[in-house]
Amino acid sequence: MGNDDNRRRKTPCGCCMSVFKWIPVLFIFAVIGWSYYAYVVELCVLNTENRVAMIFMLFFYHITLILFLWSYWKTISTSVGRVPDHWRIPDEEVNHLFRADNPETQKRILNNFARNLPVTNRTMNGSVRFCDKCKIIKPDRSHHCSVCSCCVLKMDHHCPWVNNCVNFFNYKFFVLFLGYALIYCLYVAFTTLHDFIQFWQTENQLSEQGQLNGSGMGRFHILFLFFISIMFAISLVSLFGYHIYLVLVNRTTLESFRAPVFRIGGPDKNGYNLGRYANFCEVFGDDWQYWFLPIFTSKGDGLSYPTATEQTGNQSYDAMGHTNHSTANRQRPAHPV
Ligand SMILES: [Zn+2]
Ligand SMILES: [Zn+2]
Repeated sequence: MGNDDNRRRKTPCGCCMSVFKWIPVLFIFAVIGWSYYAYVVELCVLNTENRVAMIFMLFFYHITLILFLWSYWKTISTSVGRVPDHWRIPDEEVNHLFRADNPETQKRILNNFARNLPVTNRTMNGSVRFCDKCKIIKPDRSHHCSVCSCCVLKMDHHCPWVNNCVNFFNYKFFVLFLGYALIYCLYVAFTTLHDFIQFWQTENQLSEQGQLNGSGMGRFHILFLFFISIMFAISLVSLFGYHIYLVLVNRTTLESFRAPVFRIGGPDKNGYNLGRYANFCEVFGDDWQYWFLPIFTSKGDGLSYPTATEQTGNQSYDAMGHTNHSTANRQRPAHPV
């Protein structure tokens, strides 16, 4: 990888920052751990007298929790991948590039180096995109992440809640994580609603105080569980809805703020929009049996992507504008992990 060196250089301060970056993840795990205790022990075991209802509640709770934690962990643990070595510009070429006296010369050096690479994205001045930190030609839809210190394929954004870049290799996991987290919160809120209502009724009827079959702390856990799950559900529903929208229009968060620039056609936010179903399958794969499981099934290699132009015109353009009459070369991922 052209930027491994950057990532290996760790100072003591850098190590402290690495630890610091895990705090949001630890916070999420702490909330999940507490919610598990509150739901399973305080609500189901100590406060649910109907045994059949308790078994059903626990069964669906654990199914949701497993899918939620599985997709969350896959989002966290999946590597950002690597840009293959042949995208790296040799040091002597980099020196030529930096010493070039005008942008046109730089543009010519970059275009010449990228002539056999499948790049269609350009900078605003029409040059092939180059990362001066990683010393590589940037593949289409990739961006340099200053937190990860490397170029990330199909970068969506760097998410502190997963301490990882959301990118080509874990985008499906991230969307599933949002979806299952939302289902988890809604399920917990729905099944604690009865106890929540009962609490306010008993508060208004002093003679019935204490009927919640437990101590004040037990009641506190259940009420707090209801509030927390509603609060997370409200924030998750907009984020999940937004990413479903992005999947259906085949756009990353970064591309929704700044449209990718194509060699043919210039800036175009819908440059990768192949139609809703095709867009969905590009992230979730063709086999519906894997759509809802956090298993990597995204299509392509993360380096090149079919474009809307290619689909409508049944042709595409390579780095030098030569016309291809087939879809982009779709190899398996360079490093799915
Ligand atoms: Zn870079
Ligand atoms: Zn990152």
